[in-house]
Amino acid sequence: MDRRQFLVGCGCCGLVGAFPALALATSTNTDVWQAPQRFQRPLAGSEEGGLWAMMDREEAKLRRSMFLIKERPLNDYLTRIATRLAGEHSLDIRVYPVRTPLFNASMAPNGMLQIWSGLLLRMANEAQLAAIIGHEIGHYLSRHSLDRLRDAKSRSAFGQFLGIALSAAGAGGTAPLAQMALVAGMFAYGRDQEREADRIGLELMSKAGYEPMEASKVWAQLLAEINAEKDWSGAPAEKSVLFASHPPAVERQDDLVARAKRLSAGQLSPYEGDYASMLAPYRREWLEDELKRRKSGETLALLEIMLQRSPGDSELRFFLGETYRLRAADGDMERAMNEYRAAAERPDTPAELYRSMGMIQRQQGDHQSAKDSFRHYLAARPEAVDATMILSYLEKGS
Ligand SMILES: [Zn+2]
Repeated sequence: MDRRQFLVGCGCCGLVGAFPALALATSTNTDVWQAPQRFQRPLAGSEEGGLWAMMDREEAKLRRSMFLIKERPLNDYLTRIATRLAGEHSLDIRVYPVRTPLFNASMAPNGMLQIWSGLLLRMANEAQLAAIIGHEIGHYLSRHSLDRLRDAKSRSAFGQFLGIALSAAGAGGTAPLAQMALVAGMFAYGRDQEREADRIGLELMSKAGYEPMEASKVWAQLLAEINAEKDWSGAPAEKSVLFASHPPAVERQDDLVARAKRLSAGQLSPYEGDYASMLAPYRREWLEDELKRRKSGETLALLEIMLQRSPGDSELRFFLGETYRLRAADGDMERAMNEYRAAAERPDTPAELYRSMGMIQRQQGDHQSAKDSFRHYLAARPEAVDATMILSYLEKGS
């Protein structure tokens, strides 16, 4: 597995406001921040007009991509959050959820905002997602990447980034993830721009009624995941694209905490319940995608964090077991069995855990237990795609 296949930090790639001629109401020098007027579409013959047209073409491709998550309720939910945050600018922003198991969000100059499923899986509540969307809107309103996109190298990197993202379907496997991570790293904004986007994001979220303290928790969690990966596989955290495209997470986290303290008014909410119901239909599938990344350090840290939020969740225990089973380091089969047993005692346990238990028991030569586990699995999932294979194990004595 390619070691570069890290979590991608919010790519913030190629986010551009298109009109240098328009006066900005944004100020970096005072604490009073006012959103600028809505941007107009640039003239067709201008440099910005060309970039805009290029983004429109990419957006048309994205709409046809098999990775686009098309279900209405999720799309409406994301659009509602963007509308709450961006006010009248939301008329110019379109949010696209994309099924890719990396932590990434990016805004194109024409208002195309992508949010990847790896990011959605990691958010604890709606306020955290609002922090990310608010941050991207912050880059948009400040038109940070105009200069970057004028640079031909950045422009080609952005095109390449979108190209890889959109053609991943044909490539199969996980290679595109590594490539996307690399190319997203070329879109590093300056620290000041990241800070400004954070600051605007916090203002927008607290104005919209979201608890701003949640923003820093996103970075605390990512840092925990990346450090866990470093401890496990030795993959250096500084090589992570998270660090390539953002100020160090520790510094950013501290800054977010300090600012949030000034904004918290006690009336604000994390909107936990709303987020959990949005995530419910997708979580299983996205956890399976996460497992396929084979970044066990990050995945274990993520699952532990999710379990802290919801300790009785048998599905999360099952996935923790799966991560150990697939990692297969010393003692991992025992760890996996412990997680499966703990999950089995709870309601709503995924039946697949009996298949996994059976596999381990079979491997360890405990054929009677393996048989029991496989029977349990088949009773619950008679139509499973692997039912024939499991039946053949039973016929052979497990
Ligand atoms: Zn950013």
